[in-house]
Amino acid sequence: MMIRDLRKLRVLRWLLSGLLLLAAGGWSDSVIVSADAPPNELKQPNAQSQKRLAVIIDDLGNQMKGTDEILAMPVKLTVAVMPFLPSSEQDARNAHERGHDVLIHLPLEPKQGKPQWLGPGAILSSMKDEEVRKKVEEAIDNVPFAVGINNHMGSKITGDKRIMSVILDVCRERGLFFVDSKTNYWSVAGDLASEKGLPELHNDIFLDDVHTERHIAGQFHKIEELLEQRGKCVTIGHVGVKGDKTAKVLKEMIPEFQLKGITFVGISEFARDQRKDFDFAPGSGINLP
Ligand SMILES: [Zn+2]
Repeated sequence: MMIRDLRKLRVLRWLLSGLLLLAAGGWSDSVIVSADAPPNELKQPNAQSQKRLAVIIDDLGNQMKGTDEILAMPVKLTVAVMPFLPSSEQDARNAHERGHDVLIHLPLEPKQGKPQWLGPGAILSSMKDEEVRKKVEEAIDNVPFAVGINNHMGSKITGDKRIMSVILDVCRERGLFFVDSKTNYWSVAGDLASEKGLPELHNDIFLDDVHTERHIAGQFHKIEELLEQRGKCVTIGHVGVKGDKTAKVLKEMIPEFQLKGITFVGISEFARDQRKDFDFAPGSGINLP
């Protein structure tokens, strides 16, 4: 009873400061001003000048090639685990124990592509709101230690305001954030997340959309340029058929990037940048009153 009340208080505080922030003009990467931030942070919102990179690795959960190599990386990564698959729970547990952030890699209907690529528990545009809600809740319950959700495929659904609204409502109720993988240029996820008081997080660049080591290394150079410009970057790679290539290049790039002063962070750190008042931490989530 006590814990539940404390959680309610925490959520209320979160929502209240979100409203204050919205009233102050909303939040963005450049305007990080929390209602209860210490004075020096208010003066210097961009004091943290270091370059921070969040690497998300998608498609875990089905004993995919490259999984062990990814989990063994010597820096903090974020892994996105598909629900309801043979190694979903174990992969999430292993990742959490090694200190990586865990996301639920939620299968969302694409505009094109084979239905069997979606995997179990997929959300389709034909579903009613209640069915979408149930699917999202079941997926969250299936992947332990998750701090957020990102989309597997989803070029159709991320452009669907009705369905994204249900998904983001469940995220908010369960204390999770949503990371838009950006498989659809016209995605509504970011704007809707901001409207609902959630952090706005999205993929900046895919690492391995072409599965050659040369291409992946080239993407890392683009990431370096993005980090020079903005100080932070989110990139998505994959385990799977050619997952060993992504893992190999990533492993080579880690010491090189660290020498250049780039820090590898979990995606939850970028969520906290936008919501300093809320600690997105692994757990069973938070139920709104
Ligand atoms: Zn995926």
